[in-house]
Amino acid sequence: MTERGTDDSLYCSTCDEHVSRDDAIRTRTYGDLDPDRWQTLCCPSCGTRLKTVFIGG
Ligand SMILES: [Zn+2]
Repeated sequence: MTERGTDDSLYCSTCDEHVSRDDAIRTRTYGDLDPDRWQTLCCPSCGTRLKTVFIGG
C-alpha cells in the first residue's frame, strides 16, 4: 500500500527538491499559534518554511 502523501513529502521551490517530513527542520511557528501544538517545517538545505503542521492533540 503506497500512498503518495501530501503530508509526508514537502516540496521546496527554492531548492527544487522534495523534502521528507522526517528530514525537515522543525521550528516554532510565528504569530499567535501555540508552539506546543503547531510547528513549522523548514527545508534542511535552505531553511525556507515549507509547511506549518498541527502536532498537538
Ligand atoms: Zn530548500
